[in-house]
Amino acid sequence: MPTTLADEADAYRFLERLRWPGGVPADCPHCAARDGAWLLTPVDGVGRTTSTGARSARRIWRCRGCRRQFSVLNATFLQGTRTDLLTWLAVVTDRAAGTADAIIADRSGLTPATVRHLLARLAVAERAAGLAPPAARSVAGERCPGAVEAQPVAGRVSLTVADDVAERVRALLALPGGKARAVRHGTPARRRPLRQVGPSAEYGDGPD
Ligand SMILES: [Zn+2]
Repeated sequence: MPTTLADEADAYRFLERLRWPGGVPADCPHCAARDGAWLLTPVDGVGRTTSTGARSARRIWRCRGCRRQFSVLNATFLQGTRTDLLTWLAVVTDRAAGTADAIIADRSGLTPATVRHLLARLAVAERAAGLAPPAARSVAGERCPGAVEAQPVAGRVSLTVADDVAERVRALLALPGGKARAVRHGTPARRRPLRQVGPSAEYGDGPD
């Protein structure tokens, strides 16, 4: 059954189900404790406000052992990405359908440099996971069968992910996060530690 993702939070839940049994963190990516973690629920039930004031649908968990925060992206090949997950999944879907890089770049709504970076990161992860690189089946300007709808990814409201693509993503998520880091160019941008995402008073996240 293909999975239709309506929004970014849906995309997070989708990855959580692919990475963790039952969609619940099996162990903490920071301390490896298996004490469990709880989801930090924004009090408005919609999303957090990031440091830039934008609303974020990132789903953040807190470890019961070390109390540090993490998301499904921690210690995976997607760790530190600034690209939203719906866009990532659209790129993976397009690639699996054999869509030419130029077409992916065209409809991703991202800058060419960002698309090159995404595709390079994806290619490294695919090799590390032992996944065969998808065969290119389309040429520039041609609609490709099986690919997602030919609309810009940016601002998309939903994405349908086929089962075989989901299995690809599952294999990629199972990789230790360090394996894809070789693709980073120059000095990696310093990521803001997840524990600083916002004042904890904003969350109904239990005792602090
Ligand atoms: Zn922990």
